[in-house]
Amino acid sequence: MAKSSKDVVMPGDELGVIEEYMPGNGTYEDDGKIKASSVGTLDLDTKSRKAGVSVSRKFSVPEVGDLVEGIVTLVKDDKAVVSIVGIRGKRPLTGEFTGELHISQAAKSYTKSMHDVTNVNDRILAKVITGWTPYQLSTADDNLGVIFATCTKCGDSLVLRGDKLVCLAEKVYERRKVSSEYSLRE
Ligand SMILES: [Zn+2]
Repeated sequence: MAKSSKDVVMPGDELGVIEEYMPGNGTYEDDGKIKASSVGTLDLDTKSRKAGVSVSRKFSVPEVGDLVEGIVTLVKDDKAVVSIVGIRGKRPLTGEFTGELHISQAAKSYTKSMHDVTNVNDRILAKVITGWTPYQLSTADDNLGVIFATCTKCGDSLVLRGDKLVCLAEKVYERRKVSSEYSLRE
C-alpha cells in the first residue's frame, strides 16, 4: 500500500520509487526504491519531488551497539530468529522488530549448533551489530546470551548452577550460551 505524507514509517519501509522522488533525509535507495532509514513521519514534497523522513524522538528503534532483549522464536542449526521486545536504557519500541543471531556471533569459542546456544521461548540479551531489519545480533560477550530459560521437557524455570542450567525437577542439564546476567541462580 502506498504511503502518504505524515504517515509513521519504520526503517526499511518503502516510500516511493526514484522515478517519482529524490531520496531525502532519513532515507536510502535500494534497487530503485526509496526506503526509510529512520523511524519518523514521512514528508512527500510533490513540488520538489523529494521523499524524506522527519526523525521522531517519541519512538525508539534498535541501533548498532544497542543492548536488546528478545524472545527466541525459531532455532535452526546455523541461526536463531529473535523477536526484539525492548532496548536497554531507551524508550519503548514502536512496532515489532525481528533480529537474527547467526552461529558465528553466538559465542567467543567455536559453536557446533545453535541448539547448544538457545531454544525457542528463551529470553536473551544481545548486542545489535547491523542497522536494519532483520537486525543481526551478537551474544558473544560474557554479559550476553540467555537470561531466562525453561526446561524443554517439563517447562519449569531452569536455574544456573555454576556455569550450567539445570532443571531442578528432573535433575537434567540443558545447554545454552548463558549470560552473566542470568536471572535465576541456585
Ligand atoms: Zn524439567
